[in-house]
Amino acid sequence: MADRPYIVGNWKMNGTRAMLSEARAIDRAAQRYMKAEVAVAPPYTLIHAVHREAEQIGVGAQDCHPGAEGAHTGDISATMLADAGAKFVILGHSERRGAHGESNDLINAKIESALDAGLRIILCCGESLELRDSGKAEEFVLGQLRASLPKIEDAAERVTVAYEPIWAIGTGRTATLEDIASMHAAIRKLLDETYGPEQSAEVRILYGGSVNPDNARDILSTPEVGGALVGGASLSAESFLGIVVAAS
Ligand code: PEP
Repeated sequence: MADRPYIVGNWKMNGTRAMLSEARAIDRAAQRYMKAEVAVAPPYTLIHAVHREAEQIGVGAQDCHPGAEGAHTGDISATMLADAGAKFVILGHSERRGAHGESNDLINAKIESALDAGLRIILCCGESLELRDSGKAEEFVLGQLRASLPKIEDAAERVTVAYEPIWAIGTGRTATLEDIASMHAAIRKLLDETYGPEQSAEVRILYGGSVNPDNARDILSTPEVGGALVGGASLSAESFLGIVVAAS
């Protein structure tokens, strides 16, 4: 599994049923580019529809509530996501940590709930520009991961990490290949310590932050980059597939 680059589109709060044609196009192309594992995380309203259309691509969600059910108006549980066809959930995205004030404790409760529901998780981490400029990026990112990496036996099958420097998300600015390589190497070392080298080797570390068809090949060939979490460029099949082709 770890040898196959994992290319995940995070549609964020974008997409109505009109986007299903993009999902179909992505799915058809993914059948031709089997070297990469391709997935999308549409908004909740489209998960079931994309799941029904998709033969090849994986479908996931962008968040979940930590509880299994109950009086939580407007929330969605991991069990509901699995029932709708989701196979994974993105947790700890900086837009949720920031705009929704999500703490590591809350993220950990969501992780537990997602794993209980049989979902795989994509755990996001990443530093602000201030932290990068003050030389504390690595300490901060490893701290986020130390706080949240689940202590489970089957991390190889269930856990993916996404390193997404906040200042590179949606800005058109990407980290340098050297910065990506050095952060991914530090994350790999932590994964080795947490899961042991054998399990760790199967846990992919995705890079996210303004990945597009032009920069994807270089980013994806950087050591320890096991794929990409793609926001803006995943909203059209054409640009997303440019990244899938670069990974193939
Ligand atoms: C993201 O938000 O996960 C992301 C990587 O966004 P973008 O590709 O638009 O920077």
